[in-house]
Amino acid sequence: MERTIKKIAVLTSGGDAPGMNAAIRSVVRTCAFYNIKCVGVNRGYEGLIEGDFNVMDARSVKGIINKGGTILKSARSKDFRTKEGRARAYENVNKAGIDGLVVIGGDGSFTGALIFNEEFGFPVMGIPGTIDNDIFGTTHTLGFDTALNTVVEAIDKIRDTASSHDRLFFIEVMGRDVGHIALNVGIAGGAEEILIPEEDLGLERLVESLNKSRKSGKSSSIVVVAEGDKIGKNIFELKDYVDENMEGYDVRVSVLGHMQRGGSPSCFDRVLASRMGVKAVESLLENQSNFMVGLLNNNIELTPLENAIKGKSKINLELLRVSDIMST
Ligand code: ATP
Repeated sequence: MERTIKKIAVLTSGGDAPGMNAAIRSVVRTCAFYNIKCVGVNRGYEGLIEGDFNVMDARSVKGIINKGGTILKSARSKDFRTKEGRARAYENVNKAGIDGLVVIGGDGSFTGALIFNEEFGFPVMGIPGTIDNDIFGTTHTLGFDTALNTVVEAIDKIRDTASSHDRLFFIEVMGRDVGHIALNVGIAGGAEEILIPEEDLGLERLVESLNKSRKSGKSSSIVVVAEGDKIGKNIFELKDYVDENMEGYDVRVSVLGHMQRGGSPSCFDRVLASRMGVKAVESLLENQSNFMVGLLNNNIELTPLENAIKGKSKINLELLRVSDIMST
């Protein structure tokens, strides 16, 4: 049954990412443009269950496009995983007269949205917001580009100290399941090796490759390691192995951690967030539901949420080849 959408809610869920605020702003302003009411839900699905809503108008999102994090706050909600929790959320959205929901988050958040739709027939639309870029149906998730720039800046700084002391640095970056961040920043930061979950180089080959690069005249080295890399149990084990099996290098570890999630969104992420927010609202107004908006061939396209959740975001093989050639 088609319904006329008169009020849309927006929430941010899962890990925060730069560009989420720009996406909230875009959803709110697109609603204002079409004379649709808009409410912001605080703390993701927790706020939906508790009915923690704010009315948002075009002016309420001023001054946030350049801010990292999310003004609506994000949370991981255990209760939304239960039928009772979702029933309470449905009661609240009904009471508030909300007829559509935009969820900005990762695949877990999309799974929640899809289940909510299946149970109550409630229209939902997803915007991919996560720095890992691990979502199928978009070449870029919100926050990925900003995180790349943040990490490259950190690598440049670490390189200064690495080369002053002839050190070998293992730098751990985010990416539990996919190596998009590691691969891109590794190339951009001139890393000698890039270790990603998709490829297991093996400890011996790693040492061989580092020895080769030293023989070629390099006195310091940077190895970028994705969190989910399978080569060792963790980055400190890698360091111990290289310490034991390579002489003459002072080996150090730097785990970049949560700083990768923060900071002012890049121009790319701000534009992407603005485009995605417009498309999400317009799609709901066209009575579409259960889709994620994504960037494909530089167009904003819809991908069924189910595919976005189940599909795998694959590493760019051309980048792998480029990185191999660059580390010669
Ligand atoms: P990130 O990529 O940053 O981890 P995410 O959206 O994948 O983001 P999750 O913690 O997996 O983060 O999911 C966010 C929230 O979505 C959960 O806290 C939960 O409330 C809801 N959610 C996830 N999976 C389900 C599910 N199977 N059923 C209902 N709700 C879910």
